[in-house]
Amino acid sequence: MSTCGTNQIILTLADPWRVIERRCSTSHETCSPCRYLSKLLYPYTPGISTMKVLLLLFTITLASGVTRFDGEQVLRVIPQDELQLQELAKLEMTDFRLDFWKSASGLFRPVDVRVPKNLLTYVKKLLDSTGMNHTVMIDDLQQLINNQTSTSITNEFDFDKYNSYEEINAQLKEFADKYQSLTTLIKIGASHESRDIYAIRVGNSGTDKPAIFLEGQIHSREWIVSATLLYNIKFLLEGYGTEDRITKLMDEVDFYFLPVTNVDGYVYTWTTNRLWRKTRSGPIDGCYGVDPNRNWDDHFGDPGASDNPCSDTYHGPSAFSEVETKSLSNWVLENGKNIKAYLAVHSYSEMWMSPYGWTSDLPPDYEDQD
Ligand SMILES: [Zn+2]
Repeated sequence: MSTCGTNQIILTLADPWRVIERRCSTSHETCSPCRYLSKLLYPYTPGISTMKVLLLLFTITLASGVTRFDGEQVLRVIPQDELQLQELAKLEMTDFRLDFWKSASGLFRPVDVRVPKNLLTYVKKLLDSTGMNHTVMIDDLQQLINNQTSTSITNEFDFDKYNSYEEINAQLKEFADKYQSLTTLIKIGASHESRDIYAIRVGNSGTDKPAIFLEGQIHSREWIVSATLLYNIKFLLEGYGTEDRITKLMDEVDFYFLPVTNVDGYVYTWTTNRLWRKTRSGPIDGCYGVDPNRNWDDHFGDPGASDNPCSDTYHGPSAFSEVETKSLSNWVLENGKNIKAYLAVHSYSEMWMSPYGWTSDLPPDYEDQD
């Protein structure tokens, strides 16, 4: 398995399965498509359209230990020429105080960056000095987080809210109990902090069925990914035997859903820092975590990944240094002979990315995926 030896979908916030761009890019979020699956799942948007996904990193941590984002803003810049494009890309790779939600990926394509309050004046002046206009997309990040948190904290799983690690696991077990002939609960491995990582197979029993693997939330702050995958599990299971198209699909194909890959990071987003993205290993040089999406043993350390442990795109000390990526790779290598498509599902950016992360060339089976 590769960094992006996988297909990746970048969900939209308001309409998670609506892929509005399919792009060949070497942007940080990687990879190739499976348009087949896109068509399959497109209509089934979760009932969470009002939820908001918020992202990222350096911030103010109060005595309570909970990181706050008061007064932080998300700015949007649209590069108008090559020089601006290069400046933005350089800024992302060199100034770790800034949190790029959408990387510089091409001329006239929006770049979204979260800016800590104490850097707002500096960054706005910097943009002005290089002739880059900006707009304020989010005026006060903490306000949005407050709104989200107030609607998510309950003790029970609910498809109309975000759910905790424990609630998600309980729901996966409930699916497995209720639909025993259509599911298999799978323990992929355990995390750095010894949390179980669960996936579920969904499909009617059969031999040598082709399979599609959907990897979710390798970046822990991308909450809408697990919410979306869980909704699609429900949709498939409830549709079997009642809808011909779903029944036929599940008779012919197996789906493997892994709603939360980076479980330690996910718990951390609930307890301490809503915008945490990496794993929780370390510290190295005083900084915790590795970007697990840049920790695969394929083109490890290529451009797009950082060697700085304090960066949000830190690739780790070595390929597969993270037990989460190593466990997942092992599982797929041992059990995935029928997996025909592997999709890594992310949020933000609204992109469907076809090439592997280290190239802008289309994959050899690009046409077949249409
Ligand atoms: Zn991501």
